[in-house]
Amino acid sequence: MLTILAGGTGSAKLVRGLSTVIKNFSVICNVGDNIWIHGMYVCPDIDTIVYALANMLDVNRGWGIKHDSFEFNKQLETLGEESWFNIGDKDLATHLLRTKMLRDGKGLVEITQWMCDRFGINAKIIPATEDHLETRIITEDKEMHLQEFWVKNHANGKVKGVRYYGVNKIKPSLYALDAIKSSNMIIIAPGNPISSISPILAIKEIKNLLVKMKNKCVAVSPIIGTNPISGPAAKYMESVNVDVSPYGVAKFYSDVISKFVIHTTDKIYASKIAGLGVRVYDTNIIMKYKNDETRLASYLLGL
Ligand code: GDP
Repeated sequence: MLTILAGGTGSAKLVRGLSTVIKNFSVICNVGDNIWIHGMYVCPDIDTIVYALANMLDVNRGWGIKHDSFEFNKQLETLGEESWFNIGDKDLATHLLRTKMLRDGKGLVEITQWMCDRFGINAKIIPATEDHLETRIITEDKEMHLQEFWVKNHANGKVKGVRYYGVNKIKPSLYALDAIKSSNMIIIAPGNPISSISPILAIKEIKNLLVKMKNKCVAVSPIIGTNPISGPAAKYMESVNVDVSPYGVAKFYSDVISKFVIHTTDKIYASKIAGLGVRVYDTNIIMKYKNDETRLASYLLGL
């Protein structure tokens, strides 16, 4: 049994790679970027993973459904509504049905499983919690939802901190805990450490379990040299005093991992990471094409 902790775009590549080499595994998915918008509950990371495994993901954008149209968004503008959060017309069906099911009393785990069943996905995609947990970005002048900072404000401005609003009041998904407990291997995907992985680790029952199982846990670096492969990871990491380097990520995860995979060009960090009590492996961790995803997934399974 294998469990992977995942965010969205970057994580989706490795999750897709794993699905080509093993049939059954669990994906514990970040929910910190979930947002209520236009009366609908949108779960961007869950949807990215579902669409990736259903072979529906728009891989160029890294979110949404391929070949989707955006008439709904245009109509919002016509009606004078805020339309900064792009929702494709096909994607809209997902959010509407999910919201209806929530209003009918169903939980996020059941709804996500329903989606997986509809799309014939073997992997179990499990939201880290069924409760609302919200990643908030703190800038010089205000605190806002991650989506507002990243999508509406195009990540403009200095980030002074990141907060996981509600995390002390929520319960982890029991399915997530069970998946971790029954796993021989736990992978932390190369997602954004602060906005994709940390909201999962901020749930104390999940973190405590991973600490106990750290000998089974491996993480893949989302950073090569001193740069993320994509996205705002550097901005968020700096704001919480995490060094933007493979070493910084390994240190950040050092309570919960025993193995860490870096890029072949980053061997200079190996001895410093080993000093954290973490075994270091190096390989090509860039997933540009689908065969890269399979190659990295197979490599990890061989550790
Ligand atoms: P998000 O919702 O877009 O933030 O999705 P993730 O958190 O899953 O992915 C973003 C992170 O994945 C960034 O920090 C990237 O540096 C990292 N990333 C993206 N593509 C790759 C890749 O091909 N390989 C590795 N190792 N990391 C990647």
